[in-house]
Parts: sequence; C-alpha cells; structure tokens
Amino acid sequence: MPILFSSTNRQSPVVNLREALLAGQAPDRGLYFPEKFPRLTAAEIAAFALLPYHEIAFRVLAKYTGGMIPDADLAAMCREAYNFSIPLEKIYDRVHLMRLDQGPTASFKDFAAQMMARLFGRFLSEEGKHLTILTATSGDTGAAVAHAFHNIPGIQVIVLFPIAEVSESQRKLMTTLKDNVRTIAIDGKFDDCQAMVKRAFADPDLAHIALSSANSINIGRLLPQSVYYFYAASRLAKPGEPIAFSVPSGNFGDMMGAVVAREMGLPVKKIIASVNDNDAFPKFLATGNYQKICPSRNSLSNAMNVGHPSNLARLVAVYGGQMDETGKIHKLPDLAAMRRDIFSTSVSDQRTVAGIQDFWNKFQLLLEPHGAVAWQGFLDWNAKETLGDAPAVIVETANPAKFPEEVEKVVGWPPDVPPAMTAAIQLPEDYDRMGADYETFKNYLLKKHA
Ligand SMILES: *Cc1c(COP(=O)(O)O)cnc(C)c1O
Repeated sequence: MPILFSSTNRQSPVVNLREALLAGQAPDRGLYFPEKFPRLTAAEIAAFALLPYHEIAFRVLAKYTGGMIPDADLAAMCREAYNFSIPLEKIYDRVHLMRLDQGPTASFKDFAAQMMARLFGRFLSEEGKHLTILTATSGDTGAAVAHAFHNIPGIQVIVLFPIAEVSESQRKLMTTLKDNVRTIAIDGKFDDCQAMVKRAFADPDLAHIALSSANSINIGRLLPQSVYYFYAASRLAKPGEPIAFSVPSGNFGDMMGAVVAREMGLPVKKIIASVNDNDAFPKFLATGNYQKICPSRNSLSNAMNVGHPSNLARLVAVYGGQMDETGKIHKLPDLAAMRRDIFSTSVSDQRTVAGIQDFWNKFQLLLEPHGAVAWQGFLDWNAKETLGDAPAVIVETANPAKFPEEVEKVVGWPPDVPPAMTAAIQLPEDYDRMGADYETFKNYLLKKHA
C-alpha cells in the first residue's frame, strides 16, 4: 500500500508521493503530510547500528516510495546523494554534536535538496515532463537547491536572492553554476524575492509554464530530514533507548524531521526546538496563543529569521489540531501531549555569542550562530528536566566557515574553509540582476520560456 498525503487545510484530495512532490503546495494552500505514518519495527531500527548512512536513508525512504520506485533504484539514489560524512563529535558524557555541514554547500539543506532533486528528476523523466523550479533564498536554500538540481535533466532552476543580504561565500555557491541554473540578484530584500516568486505562481499569464518550488513546504524536503535522527540514534543509543535532540529552528522543517522519525517509531526522549528572537512557537507552546512575528526579527542566526514558521501547520496536525497558512488556528492541538514531547526556548543574540565562546573554551569545539542557539536551548531544557544518563544530540546546521566574521569576532581566528566551498568560490560568477519589480521578472520568465 503506498503512503498517501493529505493537506493540512483538509480541503484537497489525497495524493501520492509523486503528486505531492511535484505540486509543492496543496491546491487549498495547505501542506501535504502523510495521512498515516509508516512504521519501522524495533528490530528494523536496531539493524541501523551496523549500516552506513545511505543504507539507513534507503530503508527509511523506501517506506514512502514502495511500489513507485524500485528498491534497487532508490538505493542507488541514496548512495549518490549521501556520499559525504556526518560527524558525531563527543561534547561530554553521552552528549554529542552532529555536524550536518559536510555536503556540497556546507549546510544541512544539502540533505533534503540532494534527495529531492533526484526524486524530481526520476518522476519527471518517467512522465517525459519539464519543470522550472523557482526559489527565493536568503542564502543556504538557494545554494543547496542550485547544486542539487544542477544538470538534472528536464529541470530549469531560477534562484532569486537579495543582493545586499547574502554573504560573499553564500552568493558564490549559487552564482558559479551554469547550464540549467540561473541566479538573479534582486535589488531588494528577501521578502521582495519571496513576494515575486509567490506572484509568479499565482499569475495566469504564466500558467503555461510548469512551475514548481523547492522551498521548505515541499514534502520532498521534509522526509529526507528524518533520516539523520535515525542515524544519530543508531550510533549513540542502545536498542530501544530514547534520545534527546536540540534543533536550531526557523521554518521548523529540520525539527519536523525529528517528529517524523518519532512517528515512524524512533524512541525520542525530548525534541528541543531552539529559536532566536523569533519566539512565536515557544510562546504558543507555553500559552496556547499563537501570534506570528511580523515583520520577522533580524538576528545573528539569520537562516532562522522566520516570523511565522510554515511547518507549524504540520506540527499542529500531528497533535490533532489545525492551523491554516496564515497562522490562524482552527482547532487547538493537544498542548499537553506537545509539551510532553517538545520543549522550546528563545535564545538572544547575546547568548548566541556567549554560546560560541563557552563551547570553544570548555570543549575546544567550534560552533557557528545556529549551532550555538541549539546548544543554549539544550542547556535551558537541561536546567528544567534531567537528561540522566540518556544520550543527546545538538544539531549543528552550517559550517562555521559560512559565518567567518561572527566566528572570528568571538574566538579570534577565522574558521577553516572546507574544500568543496573553496572550489566553488574560485569559479567565475555569472548572474542576472534586476530591481524588485514583478513586471520585469515576469517578462524575464516569459522570454526564457518563449
Ligand atoms: C535553514 C536553516 C536553519 C533552519 O532550518 P528550518 O528547517 O527552517 O527550521 C537552521 N540553520 C541553518 C544554517 C539553515 O540554513
């Protein structure tokens, strides 16, 4: 039986993985989510202890692709997608740092993008279709998506980024690719880029162009993000032993990966959703009252400057509630159950900087701002509930070299640049540039697809 996906707004027909992936968003503007989670048995999970990452990815994802992608093909896709290391560094006792920064663009976005691109390529070639992926990025997503979709047949990628809001290395990771990847620098803010992309999706004059998105609402980004939680547990927990995770959270896609893993059967002690000054979720968890932050607050952990996390609609659905795309709650989730499973806390910039500093001084391990938020969030939780002798994982989502100024200011020297980044940064750049003007962008798209 293939797994079916329904919309969090409950007004769209259920679809299979192929349809959910290619559509991105459901027609009722809700997010696709499994109607019922496939389960892994305790014996299946225990067997992960001896398997490499790509094999665990295959066994988890096969639960969703059954009957749609032959097992041998999916196994090969996982092997190609996950050919980099996932370091688990000991902090103290059984508490570890999981570095998700060894992929081609040095952020955890590579885990989802690499798999999603292969799924898109596969489904499109089966149907002989072409698709244009439009993405607005504040940095890491655009780079991960551009690299993952580079040279995938049948796909054209167009990435919009705010010229003044991305770092030089973030920009070069997007603009040095060619072929089927085009980047456009927008003289405006990230919000302008996102608004232009959203208008293009809704524009009847562009309806003849097959457009899709690769942003965090796509179910194809979420499912692969459950795999590294299984992986961490397979290396650090005894069979059946619950493990705690602290996840630096913006749109809550990463943290939802841990929720998916738990729903599939992984024993989890606590999921700690650590946020920056954008504290809509910890306040909601405490009070049951949801107020999105508008406009979103700027902070050092800039990939998490999200005022209304889109994946909250999925989290609310897991606990029996309903939240629409604007953040309005139509039915409250079971808050007591949510609090039992999840802890959430807001970490200021000042504590983020202190986190990088203390972590280096105490453990000689280097964090960047997002990982530092996860570390401080873990300490907040551990001050309230005891970890005991259970294992715990702090998730580090980016390589410190992506934030050289912030890191150097704290520890006194610039972080090493990983080889994949050095290589990309030396290639010549090539990108288009335009104002934050929708008509210009529309004509650009029409000309490209004439
Ligand atoms: C995107 C991103 C996050 C936030 O992940 P979400 O899934 O949006 O919660 C955290 N850290 C880094 C480095 C990111 O790029």
